[in-house]
Amino acid sequence: MAELVTTEAAAMLGQARRVVVFTGAGMSAESGVPTFRDALTGLWQRYDAHALATPEAFRDDPALVWGWYEWRRCAVRRAQPHEGHLAVAAIETHAPHAVVITQNVDDLHERAGSKAPVHLHGSLFAPRCSACAQPAPPPDGTAEEPIEGRRTPPPRCAHCAAPVRPGVVWFGEALPQQALEAAVEEAASCDLLLTVGTSGLVYPAAEIPQVAARMGATVIQVNPQPTPLDAVSDVNLRGPAARVLPALVQAAWGDPEPPQSG
Ligand SMILES: [Zn+2]
Repeated sequence: MAELVTTEAAAMLGQARRVVVFTGAGMSAESGVPTFRDALTGLWQRYDAHALATPEAFRDDPALVWGWYEWRRCAVRRAQPHEGHLAVAAIETHAPHAVVITQNVDDLHERAGSKAPVHLHGSLFAPRCSACAQPAPPPDGTAEEPIEGRRTPPPRCAHCAAPVRPGVVWFGEALPQQALEAAVEEAASCDLLLTVGTSGLVYPAAEIPQVAARMGATVIQVNPQPTPLDAVSDVNLRGPAARVLPALVQAAWGDPEPPQSG
C-alpha cells in the first residue's frame, strides 16, 4: 500500500485549508456504474449517444429517452459507493473546508456521506419539467425495473402537464449556471484540488482543475492512467480511487486506533 501514495501528497492534503475534490466517470465506474458509452448496451446498443442525450431526441421520442435514463438510474440504485467515495466523505470531515465537484450524474457521493456535492452535469435523481423547469419527484422505484431497458413514457409535470425530463446536461446544452459558478469559485479559492477518475477532456468541466492550478493551488491527480491533466498536476498518484484515496486519507490524518479487545 505504501507505494500508492507519497508522504509529500499526504502532507499537502493534511495541511490544506480549502480542498476541492473533483471527480469523473472513473470514480463511478469502480462501483460498477456503466459509463456513458458503456450504458449503450442491450436494447440500447443500436442507438448512438446523440439519439438519446439531446433535447431534440427527447422532443422526438420522450419515452425512448426517459426509458434509457430510467434504466441507468436503476443501475445506479443497485451500485454501492466504494472505499474511495467514503474516503472523500472523510476528507470533508477532516479538512477545514472541503467541497466535492462531480461530473457524475449518480448519487454515490451523497450516499457515501458527502454533504452537498456540486453536480456539474446534473443528476439522474433531479428530474424537472421540460417546459416550465419545475423540479419533479424521481420515480419512487416501486415500478418494475427495466432490466434490459424499455421505452417508458415520462411522467407529466404537476404544474403544466408537459413531459418531465431527466435533470442531466445533454449535448448542446449549457452546464447549470449556479453549479458552474460555484465550481469555478471553489476552484479559484482552494489551496488544494484533488482530481479523481477523470480524463480531463470534457469541457468546460475540464477547466476546473486548470483554474485551480492557474490560481496557485496544488493539484493532486488520482487516476490509473496518464491523462491530459498530468501536465497541470503537481503529483500524479496512479491507481484506482478505491485504493489510493483511503491510503491518502490514512497517511494525511491517520485513523483512530481500533478498540483493543481482551
Ligand atoms: Zn411544467
